[in-house]
Amino acid sequence: MSKEIMNPVQIIEHHFEQAAARLHLDSTMRDYLRAISRELSFTLILENGKLYHGYLVQHDCTLGLYKGGTRFFPEVNLDEFRGLGKGMTWKNSFHGLPLGGMKGGVDCDPKTLTRKELKEICEKFIDETFHLIGPEMAVLGPDAGVTAEMMGWMMKRYSLLSGVPNIWGAVTGKPTELHGSYGRKDATGTGGAVVILEVLKKLGINVKDCRIIAEGFGNVNIPAVKILYKNGAKIIGLSDSHGAIFQENGFEGIDIERAIELKESGKKPLAELETGKVITHDELFAMPCDVWISAAVGTTITAQRAKSMNAQVLAELGNICATVEADEIFRGKKIVVLPDTMASGGGVNVSWYEMVQNRQWEQWPEKVVLAKLQKHMKEIFEYGWQYSQEKGLYLRDAVFDLAVKRVVDARRCTVC
Ligand code: GLU
Repeated sequence: MSKEIMNPVQIIEHHFEQAAARLHLDSTMRDYLRAISRELSFTLILENGKLYHGYLVQHDCTLGLYKGGTRFFPEVNLDEFRGLGKGMTWKNSFHGLPLGGMKGGVDCDPKTLTRKELKEICEKFIDETFHLIGPEMAVLGPDAGVTAEMMGWMMKRYSLLSGVPNIWGAVTGKPTELHGSYGRKDATGTGGAVVILEVLKKLGINVKDCRIIAEGFGNVNIPAVKILYKNGAKIIGLSDSHGAIFQENGFEGIDIERAIELKESGKKPLAELETGKVITHDELFAMPCDVWISAAVGTTITAQRAKSMNAQVLAELGNICATVEADEIFRGKKIVVLPDTMASGGGVNVSWYEMVQNRQWEQWPEKVVLAKLQKHMKEIFEYGWQYSQEKGLYLRDAVFDLAVKRVVDARRCTVC
């Protein structure tokens, strides 16, 4: 048996090649869309001598300037950023944004660094990428391990290097005090919850009878789970980097407010909630539920885990959550997959709202941002869902075809 492919760039390329074949793209167009426009790898050496590796991958700018997140996470590498950068092209395209795709970041572990070290990493990252970014060229946003404060430091550094006091539009995901958008922090989770509520309606599952397992209880899943819990869903399992908990009787559900308090009070393991059984991440995968929400960092869903999964819906709120082999298993098991290209788009949508606000010198109230995001996520779910029904396609394939086709159509307008 061949070895399972874990490399994110190979996973995203597989989905692209399948879409290219379904859309009958010619070889020139395929080559063009496979290629990465620009990429950069560099070392970052801090004043105290610590050394890190930084990356920036800009895949495609047919639809607009490059846009994507900044990831600070241990052991990230160039191939991961290539995969994530390509993923952003397809995500931005599917969501109808006037943006191309990119991703950047550093192989550091923010949890182990001082504020001073983190600030230095942010500033050095901007120093190295300065010539390839900016409000007319490429706008970085937040991703795993990167906070609003860090985005603010990056904006300040970019402005300083430009000789201008504040170029608000240089990055997104900034603190609201520095012209960040209200609603950006929780946007990925909020957007994910909207598409989950929509798919439940399509499948005729009453949200009050819905049992949810959330993999990765962090910045993305906390707001998602909060909304679903408020809507009456039972959260019966949670996992984080320390392990997992599962409610054996599976019906009362975990007290999410307490779980969030515990998390926010200082990274204590979920086991301390003393509710439900403490199990391993692998064991959690085999527990029965209606919706599995994946928001862990990295490709955590392998074929073996997919085989043991017992869910009706998988919502990918993280990026490139599942291997190709795992995806084949979902197809066979008829699990409804809300692919990352659709379900994780809330964050970049609010980043785009932030870009619009920065250009207009405006700051919209949170309720305006949330109403716009909710409307968009409902519409984009319907767009993908309808296309998949009409064409008889698995939802990931439908979403990929729509995403690739939009870039292809725009590209055709620019070449002879
Ligand atoms: N990190 C987010 C994503 O993967 C959004 C990036 C951004 O806001 O530019 O979609």
